[in-house]
Amino acid sequence: MTDRSKIVNRKAKIENPIWIDLHTHSTFSDGSMTPTELVAAARAAGLAAIALTDHDTCDGLSEFLAAGKGSEVETLAGVEVSLEFGGRTVHMLGYGINTAHGRLRETLSRLVEGRNKRNTRIVQKLQLLGISIELNEVQAIAGEQIVGRPHFAQVLIQKGVVGSFDEAFDRYLARGRPAYFERFRLSPEEAIHLIAEAGGMAVLAHPYYMGMASDLIASTLTRLKAAGLVGIEAYYPEHTEGQTRLYVEMAQRFDLLVTGGSDFHGTIKPNIALGWGRGSLRVPYVLFERLRKALLRRGKNGLVGQHSGSKHQVSGFKSQVSGEDLP
Ligand SMILES: [Zn+2]
Ligand SMILES: [Zn+2]
Repeated sequence: MTDRSKIVNRKAKIENPIWIDLHTHSTFSDGSMTPTELVAAARAAGLAAIALTDHDTCDGLSEFLAAGKGSEVETLAGVEVSLEFGGRTVHMLGYGINTAHGRLRETLSRLVEGRNKRNTRIVQKLQLLGISIELNEVQAIAGEQIVGRPHFAQVLIQKGVVGSFDEAFDRYLARGRPAYFERFRLSPEEAIHLIAEAGGMAVLAHPYYMGMASDLIASTLTRLKAAGLVGIEAYYPEHTEGQTRLYVEMAQRFDLLVTGGSDFHGTIKPNIALGWGRGSLRVPYVLFERLRKALLRRGKNGLVGQHSGSKHQVSGFKSQVSGEDLP
């Protein structure tokens, strides 16, 4: 493809609004589609670009990027890292990561191992408290989802041990309660630095999850921006129009990129459609272009965030962003 045709192509894309989805899950975490099926589904949904952002793993990304090479859909490597922030679980998206990065892979597998070990320990703790519970009962509730404390709560409700979700947490599962088990978690700063070190850009996922008032979000963004946060996921199916507006405004105020996605899990979250969320989600292609430009700029500068110790080469992420040839 010549440079000129590339320009014409891009122009056509801008004139005919086209949409993207930068938040999806595959069978490598808790989605129901393989990475290859996801790329095909994105094409069928008329999307121009998608990112795969499995929970705490980049194992699906080589298949995903390979599928993207043979498709009109542009593919971007991503990951969704769970972390601990003020006693809550927060998710950080990392885009354009080098999937072979040793420390990233190592840290992600520690996160997954930590979660598995945690589940066994919670079962043991509940058994010691006289509750008859087995891990496979919890796994049965979780189905193809990643087992988490909410699934333990559901089992405890089913067994009549507690009357509600809140009671399950208040009596057993919350931090400081008898069945709580501390596991290996990253801080927001550690997650941001890790993503940057692996050549990627950190984006705060679905900020409404943090359940914060806007002044607290602002102070949180100040802290995260100082650590190297690059963007905020303003477009998300659970965000109200008001929240989306607020997060877009916050992005402007803090000089952050805006991203968006459906958090598609296939049949595991059947009410969420790839690209369209609950039907009204529209994530414009221009956001993908801005993200890609920022990734390229970073690569060209040989810089990763503000961390001078990190090394990154243009070729390191060229392979992560497929579709059109990059300039
Ligand atoms: Zn998430
Ligand atoms: Zn997700």
